Amino acid sequence: MPSLQRSEENGYVGARRRLVERLREQGVRDPRVLEAVSEVRRHLLVDEALRDQAYEDVPLPIGDRQTISAPGIVAAMSEALELEGDETVLEVGTGSGYQAAILSRLAARVISIERIPGLANRARSALDMLGVTNVVVHLGDGSRGRPSEAPFDAIIVTAGGPKVPEPLIEQLAPGGRLIGPFGPRGQQELIRVRRKPDGEIVRESLGPCRFVDLVGEHGWMG
Ligand code: SAH
Repeated sequence: MPSLQRSEENGYVGARRRLVERLREQGVRDPRVLEAVSEVRRHLLVDEALRDQAYEDVPLPIGDRQTISAPGIVAAMSEALELEGDETVLEVGTGSGYQAAILSRLAARVISIERIPGLANRARSALDMLGVTNVVVHLGDGSRGRPSEAPFDAIIVTAGGPKVPEPLIEQLAPGGRLIGPFGPRGQQELIRVRRKPDGEIVRESLGPCRFVDLVGEHGWMG
């Protein structure tokens, strides 16, 4: 690697370390989540002009009027999924592929669905570039889930819908967790749904949040 490029990469390592410290201060505890954030090169998933902001805790535009979520919410949602390493996870809303890259280090397999073809293609190339091999990106309406590969140990929805899509709850394995932003446009609540081993469904709110729209049959109309 040319030395200029290497020193640039080193600069990003420092920026990631500072980000991890900040997330720790914000209350992220799971060491595997913090390690994943310290390793995934988020700057490669944003436009070159935005790279210097890649390790600030802010969402950034990724084209097609969509955003890469802020690292803080990505870490908080990842932690809330309580992953141990052997799970199959469904992600709805691939976007840049950042959340998928984080999950790839926390679970065995990630199936991610994106509705915008350009973003799905870019995310596939980005995940290849990052050396991620256990994420598959599908094009489609993720609000319907992916019945052919259900049930899932964990489901993460990274776009805001009016309510938790019923098909996603149905596709949750016993003991499984779903997390996502649901409620009115632009002011959702982060909801965790748990299917207990005996089948009972339990919901809890983890606080307010703000995401781009979940557009689809079980989301908002496009
Ligand atoms: N997880 C992403 C965040 C992307 S923003 C990241 O880490 O970068 C939310 C994404 O959800 C957008 O790319 C949007 O196109 C996508 N989306 C919205 N509704 C969807 C649906 N019904 N199915 C699949 N993807 C959807």
